Amino acid sequence: MKALADIAAELAGYDPQAMRAESVNAFLAELVEPITGKQEVTIFQALGRVLAADIVSPISVPPHDNSAMDGYAFDGAQLLPDTALRLKVIGTALAGKAWQGTVLPGECVKIMTGAVMPSGLNTVVPQEFVSTAADFITLAPNIVQTGENRRALGEDLMQGQPALLKGELLTPAALGLVASLGIKNVAVFRQLKVAYFSTGNEILSLGESAREGSVYDSNRYTVFGLLTRLGCEVIDMGVVRDEPTALRTAFEQAALQADAIITSGGVSVGEADYTKTMMKELGDVAFWRIAMRPGRPMAVGKISKAKSASDARPASAASYQSDSKKDPEAILFGLPGNPVAVMVTFLAFVRPALLRMMGCQASAPPMLKAHSLEAIRKKPGRTEYQRGIVSRTADGRLIVKTTGSQGSGVLSSMVQANGLIVLAHAQGNVAAGDLVDVMMFDGVV
Ligand code: AMP
Ligand code: MG
Repeated sequence: MKALADIAAELAGYDPQAMRAESVNAFLAELVEPITGKQEVTIFQALGRVLAADIVSPISVPPHDNSAMDGYAFDGAQLLPDTALRLKVIGTALAGKAWQGTVLPGECVKIMTGAVMPSGLNTVVPQEFVSTAADFITLAPNIVQTGENRRALGEDLMQGQPALLKGELLTPAALGLVASLGIKNVAVFRQLKVAYFSTGNEILSLGESAREGSVYDSNRYTVFGLLTRLGCEVIDMGVVRDEPTALRTAFEQAALQADAIITSGGVSVGEADYTKTMMKELGDVAFWRIAMRPGRPMAVGKISKAKSASDARPASAASYQSDSKKDPEAILFGLPGNPVAVMVTFLAFVRPALLRMMGCQASAPPMLKAHSLEAIRKKPGRTEYQRGIVSRTADGRLIVKTTGSQGSGVLSSMVQANGLIVLAHAQGNVAAGDLVDVMMFDGVV
């Protein structure tokens, strides 16, 4: 793993006091590495996991030419323009029960969807397009062309071709595709382990009675949801008091068990607490001010497992995974405390970095462009993420309005929104009707 100073030296225009959103992503892409641990799982266990090896088709799908319709199979060479065709029905081909035999010119075979095409035949006329009389059918002129309504061998997947590639996220469609090849088990990367804790003396755990000036911990739950959606194994470490021993133990335990550690709170400039001190002491950590809104302060770095292991209790040593021995450091994402800032920095920076660690090739959530219903004030020189509600007008245009109050603590705005309006670093004010970029939440938030 590269040292932070080396990454900083290579990154053009690196300025920890004024990081651009793109520079944060570029830095993190250098910092994090894909995990190496793999495991074999059944298709039922594979949803949302990342493929650890290419899957090459052992068979062709479909394995034979077959009919796409219920109808009559015949040799299309007999079709002439503007001419009706009369054929004798000499048999029936069913799905799972092929018709064996020779079909001569002037003859056809009644065929069902999915049935193997009798040899020498290349065309199917749907049954509703023919008139029947005794053993004969008649096709009206120009009703079908040669090759129609036939599915060709291998038109989905050809034997020997890669069907899915290493790094692909296994979606419901991918599970079906794997099964269509007759494959039961797949090699996936092991789940990424991510430990999370909230910091701050004012933060209450659920069940605790309120103290003066206290607020309930919400970050723990949004982060839990975001990590779970991403397919990570979440190690919930609760709320940690702003006290050196408690923080040290939390960081050490987290580093031992996890590939990545996420914290919230205690990283802003002028925070009179021990969180930053402990991060500095236990790891190689950079403290940034990011030119963005919400979510300006953020700490990023690595916490050594070796240092942590030396004084950790034996109980925790059991969770020291064999393959994490090769990664002697856990990546640290020290997020700001404000609930909306936590979600925004997670989506903008942590999510892509974790996906890279998971070995995944897929990246950003879908972005679309929508017309802003209102004017938005925006200062050039920082990236802004406003909560937006996207909808479609009757004539099919996409429009977006903001959720109103954009305070970085207004979590209800994240619930109302279905996406984030992303206003780029250099962009100025938005006029009503202008097109803006929106990062959609679907499947993510
Ligand atoms: P900080 O980044 O520690 O200065 O926190 C910024 C704001 O976010 C403060 O108002 C905190 O009370 C609030 N905050 C910090 N952590 C949490 C949390 N886990 N849940 C809810 N609010 C929080
Ligand atoms: Mg604080």
